[in-house]
Amino acid sequence: MSEKKRIAILGSTGSIGTKSLEVIENNSDIFEVEVLTANNNVDLLISQAKKFRPNVVVIANKDRYSKVAEALKSLPVKVYAGSDAINQVVEMGSVDLVLTAMVGYSGLIPTYHAVRSGKTIALANKETLVVAGELITRLAIENNSAIIPVDSEHSAIFQCLVGELANRVEKIILTCSGGPFRGKSSYELENVTVDMALDHPNWDMGTKITIDSATLINKGFEVIEAHWLFGLPSSKIEVIVHPQSIVHSMVQFEDGSLKAQMGLPDMRLPIQYALGFPYRIKNKFPRFDFNNFPTLSFEQPDLIKFRNLALAYEALNTGGNTPCVLNAANEVVVQAFLEGRTGFTDMPVLIEKTVKEVVFIKDPGLDDLIQTNIEARRITESLISS
Ligand code: MN
Repeated sequence: MSEKKRIAILGSTGSIGTKSLEVIENNSDIFEVEVLTANNNVDLLISQAKKFRPNVVVIANKDRYSKVAEALKSLPVKVYAGSDAINQVVEMGSVDLVLTAMVGYSGLIPTYHAVRSGKTIALANKETLVVAGELITRLAIENNSAIIPVDSEHSAIFQCLVGELANRVEKIILTCSGGPFRGKSSYELENVTVDMALDHPNWDMGTKITIDSATLINKGFEVIEAHWLFGLPSSKIEVIVHPQSIVHSMVQFEDGSLKAQMGLPDMRLPIQYALGFPYRIKNKFPRFDFNNFPTLSFEQPDLIKFRNLALAYEALNTGGNTPCVLNAANEVVVQAFLEGRTGFTDMPVLIEKTVKEVVFIKDPGLDDLIQTNIEARRITESLISS
């Protein structure tokens, strides 16, 4: 690489955002930060901007604009506010790669703009493909926009597929840690508290995805994400529970050969691979040691107790706006769970009811999806408060 890759990080103050900046800092000879965006966390955004000196920062919450602008006024950093500004800056000619690390549905429209302008996307916001997989993948092909997965399972599959372009895939196998409640009884699941759900055994992640991992909707979203990224039907996408989180996922080819990508559970690795692709970059991250993992085990997921995973397969098979409903309902129930307004085992029940209530649209356009998202949220909220 002769010139530095100029990177826009959407959601720079979150878990993936901060780890990405660590990767960039360690490799400042090949990467530079062009854009940083954050939703609300102004203090961290300001300190990141002072350190990395991006061309532009955007604070999505307009009420916090003046604080950011004031703090950065002596620096050559442009400061904008609002979600429309994010949609515009991702299209700037000076951006080579857009890392989408926002939480949930909020990632959709900025990613849409980045894809439309032909940017390379390092995709950390899986909800974009859950909500609008068909639309985004079509747009990516039309605009020659490469989408490189950051999600560890999809990064693993992507890495297994490098050099295998001519070879047919029989199936892919997504690994799943099982979350903190693997093997728990229905009674125990009914009494899960927020603190228990936030205590993930292997991965250090943001709040929303940690709850999503505990309910297994995250794995369901990943099945949908894999469908769009790798163009495989749901019948060729399997999930296996692997509590140690060392095998990050696998690809089985038509000769029966199975390739796995392995390593310690450390998001910096898939982030670095996505930013550096097609090159691997030397680093000092801790190495896997077989002495610490004498046993790697695998078991079937429990689709009865963890109904969310089954709901995601059903939504993928139904298609249309149904995965968008699934995502919207999930965002509402997760927020309600975090606020103590609903129980752990109520979440899949509420999601399923919402999916049944929202009007089905077979070939939704962007506006249909935006409306579906609003409608589904309204229905889930009313189900919670009834
Ligand atoms: Mn994942």
